[in-house]
Amino acid sequence: MLWLTFVSLATSYNNEKPGKRIIQTKGNPRMTGSGKQNPAENIYDIAIVGAGIIGLSAALALSDAGLRVLALDQQEAMHEASWAAAGMLAANDPHNPPEIHALSLYSESLYPAFLDRIEQLAGRAIPIRTTQTLEGLPADHSLSGQPLTSEEIDQLAPRLNTGSLSFSLMNERSLDPCDLTEILPGAIRAAGIDLRDHTQVLRVESDGPAHRLLAARRAEGQTEEESFTARHVLFATGAWIAPIAHAPAVEPRKGQLVALKIDGPDQTECVLRIPGLYIVPRGDGNYVVGATLENTGFDQSTSEPQLADLARRAAELWPPLANAERVAAWAGLRPMAPDGLPVIGPLSRADGNPTLWVATGHFRNGILLAPGTAHIVCDLILGHTPQVNIAAFRADRLATSAV
Ligand SMILES: Cc1cc2nc3c(=O)[nH]c(=O)nc-3n(C[C@H](O)[C@H](O)[C@H](O)COP(=O)(O)OP(=O)(O)OC[C@H]3O[C@@H](n4cnc5c(N)ncnc54)[C@H](O)[C@@H]3O)c2cc1C
Repeated sequence: MLWLTFVSLATSYNNEKPGKRIIQTKGNPRMTGSGKQNPAENIYDIAIVGAGIIGLSAALALSDAGLRVLALDQQEAMHEASWAAAGMLAANDPHNPPEIHALSLYSESLYPAFLDRIEQLAGRAIPIRTTQTLEGLPADHSLSGQPLTSEEIDQLAPRLNTGSLSFSLMNERSLDPCDLTEILPGAIRAAGIDLRDHTQVLRVESDGPAHRLLAARRAEGQTEEESFTARHVLFATGAWIAPIAHAPAVEPRKGQLVALKIDGPDQTECVLRIPGLYIVPRGDGNYVVGATLENTGFDQSTSEPQLADLARRAAELWPPLANAERVAAWAGLRPMAPDGLPVIGPLSRADGNPTLWVATGHFRNGILLAPGTAHIVCDLILGHTPQVNIAAFRADRLATSAV
């Protein structure tokens, strides 16, 4: 029954997309005989479990490399951490672990092409909202640039309360993840990727050269079983443990954010960031203030004391926010590995010819790290050497789940 459902779904996929291009194997024997060469096989080259920014950016890179891609999400694509984020591309934040520095710079360098590709596919641009960050650090920390004078600070963010901190200016961009949520899934579908919402992968069975994904699809209050077959599977399940044995044990870390609005012209165009607090301008007098870091499981509620504390500390740092109106508040779950580093690569090293992959644990920097992670995953699957050393991100460095 399950199998029949799969066959009919995959057949309709083929009917809808008759013109998909032929796979470019680039000499990788693993990909020889892919589903794209023979669409009647009804086998995807790769199924991606989880359609947050990590899963979808990998989907796009893999599709652009010629693979036939399926992406599944247990709810709507881009509606978890990737929607909740503040959107800073903070490649040079001195609080980032040094192990992610090279990946951060690599990913940041890929951002213009990533956004151009999305615009080309979706017909809509994702605007860069800010291009500079004023970072404040205690005097005993080394700043990434020259310390600014109080006159310079006043020009960039009038009335900033520097206290005992030294501030420097960084060329760092930010975008609004709500723009990504609105535009990226459409771009993914326009690329010919089969993106399915409300489809939770429950189990992956491996049999011979292909994997069978068993899923539950929710529609109009009903749940239907479905199955899909793919030669490779990438788990990009964010804070959720991937539904397979030996999945890395990542955990959720809740972050609450509050959006404040002040009337009149924008008074700063810089992100203001100090230890434990940031203020991200979104334009039109809107500012996002974040974020808490909480170990409360999968709870995604907001709490008044935490939100009030964020707003109070933001106004203390930058007094123009003192009379701001609170216009929204939300929370999201950052995916965190025990050592705080991403998990990227094959699920297990023991397998010399891997077909099960993972990309998760991007913690506080998943928006920044998405295009870089996507290229690394794509290189690995195609049998190429990634541009960045990923030894620190290996899955087998971590304890695994008992699923
Ligand atoms: C408050 C906050 C502020 C942040 N600010 C920034 C920032 O300024 N800059 C930055 O770079 N990063 C920031 N981040 C971090 C960033 O949001 C995350 O690292 C990133 O979104 C992780 O992306 P993801 O795709 O791995 O996870 P998610 O976006 O959570 O996506 C995972 C997806 O997998 C799906 N899924 C899980 N299990 C299954 C299953 N079995 N079957 C099908 N689907 C499944 C989920 O439904 C989900 O949609 C912030 C995060 C938070 C919470």
